[in-house]
Amino acid sequence: MELLYEGKSKRIYGVNEREVFVEFKDDVTAFDGKKKASPEGKGKATAEISSLLFEYLSSKGIPTHYIGKGEGGFYAKKVRILPVEVVVRNVATGSIVKRLGLEKGKELTPPLVEYFYKSDELGDPLVCADHIVYFKWATEEELKKMKELSLRATELLKDVFASAGLKLVDIKYEFGYDPDGNLVLADEISPDTCRIWDENGRSLDKDVFRKDLGDIVEAYGEVLRRLRDVLGTPLKSRT
Ligand code: UDP
Repeated sequence: MELLYEGKSKRIYGVNEREVFVEFKDDVTAFDGKKKASPEGKGKATAEISSLLFEYLSSKGIPTHYIGKGEGGFYAKKVRILPVEVVVRNVATGSIVKRLGLEKGKELTPPLVEYFYKSDELGDPLVCADHIVYFKWATEEELKKMKELSLRATELLKDVFASAGLKLVDIKYEFGYDPDGNLVLADEISPDTCRIWDENGRSLDKDVFRKDLGDIVEAYGEVLRRLRDVLGTPLKSRT
């Protein structure tokens, strides 16, 4: 397979005109790439968790790019990603706490939706809906669809995590157009892109790495084990 793109935590290979293979690396970065590590087994864990969660969301009617699991990653429809990240927050922590002076751990009910402009040079700045439409990063209809899908996906995932004794604190989504012109949920859904707390408020996500809270591979393994207990062992393969 031809390597099409290499990012901070994934490699994308072309399979054919319409499909890619998303391979997860062990690399983990934080603080705009200033902090880096490569813990063995982290890629496998994020690949498995993403596959499980995409498969679950697809089964519940959320359109996604996911096709099927492979070795160390998954097959997906080739998508043109829109440069907007949608963050849904159930609990205040991370950047919003600093930005708005909120108390960490404050429940956000109903969930709060925020948008960020995908730009490494600018450090993914927070933007509002008007910026997105004005600068044509997405149309008003696309934005409405992305918001609705993000809220629906979060509701579904929040329940799955709750059944696993875990709290889905916040989560980041990306969307793109598949080869048939459908707007689908894309990228990844893993502890690299969401925050998960256990019953004791212990972080089982990338904050383990960001804040040096312990062994990230062990934390992600715990999430995977618990999700498997709830969702069953995956997974459909590509063919
Ligand atoms: N997030 C992400 N990619 C980014 C920025 C944030 O996946 O480039 C996720 C992050 O892991 C968290 C949620 O989005 O689950 C909200 O992140 P926040 O805005 O609090 O930013 P952070 O504190 O991570 O800088």
